[in-house]
Amino acid sequence: MLFDDYLKKAQTLRTGVVKGYKRPHKPAMLLAILSLIENGKLNENKIAYSPLLLELFKRYFEIVKSQEDSFNPILPFFHLRGDQLIHHKPFPGKEDAYEAIRTPRSTKQFLDIVSYAYLEEELFSSLRDPEKLNKLRQTIIETYFRKHEIRIKQIIEDEKDITTYQTKLEGNPGKVGEKIERTQSRSTAFSRIIREIYDYRCAACGLRINLNGLFIIDAARLIPFSISKDDDPCNGIALCKNHHWAMDKFLLVPGIDDLWHVSPELDDRLEGCSDIIKLDKRKILLPQLKKYHPKEESLAWREKRILK
Ligand SMILES: [Zn+2]
Repeated sequence: MLFDDYLKKAQTLRTGVVKGYKRPHKPAMLLAILSLIENGKLNENKIAYSPLLLELFKRYFEIVKSQEDSFNPILPFFHLRGDQLIHHKPFPGKEDAYEAIRTPRSTKQFLDIVSYAYLEEELFSSLRDPEKLNKLRQTIIETYFRKHEIRIKQIIEDEKDITTYQTKLEGNPGKVGEKIERTQSRSTAFSRIIREIYDYRCAACGLRINLNGLFIIDAARLIPFSISKDDDPCNGIALCKNHHWAMDKFLLVPGIDDLWHVSPELDDRLEGCSDIIKLDKRKILLPQLKKYHPKEESLAWREKRILK
């Protein structure tokens, strides 16, 4: 198929119309997929229903949605197949179950059946050319989101900045952070790396909840940025809200022995503290990659300040 035919398909998505307004889900999902390709996150033609895809979709969706639109990314991820732009790869043995889906009953049901989505092969190879990628994106913006063009382009630029900084942080741990300004895109890059390397899990309790790409964990800094100016991923750790708060207050600190230490301020004879106290001397749930383990100076900084 010619590239121009894909442009036509993108202009005539079956979006559903509410009160004369075209539903934005499908074109927003395409913008998210284009961002993945543009920023080198899709080296193969395999689009996982990943936290990053959902985060990108959410960024675009927040700008273009109307009051009638609810955030339900699994629907465009599935229904874009009806426009013959993307297809899905079911897990082995799940082909019949996939064929039987008319609309996903739930995200979990769908992800139990489908391994990943992929673009039409010819389209995917065309999009390796940045000019073509831009052309398709511009077509989508002009067809569906003309009045949001400026804000969409800000996201596109912002995502490029985030990726550049993320690549720098991943490539040179320990060598960044001096005299840098903390901007939103840098902070997002840091958060994405930390959440990813900890596999979206709290390093204290292991909690891992994914609600349509919204995760319960925060990317916390061991030595605060205001003091350290250090965006090295080894100065970060992923924590759930409770344990992030407890670490910020020095009630729970990660030690250089790779164990958690609980402040004697918390008394197990008092009701309600047991959730934190039981973490005392438990192992920090560290990233698989050793190069991302917290560095000693950052752990020592925390450990020294435990509330006594
Ligand atoms: Zn936790």
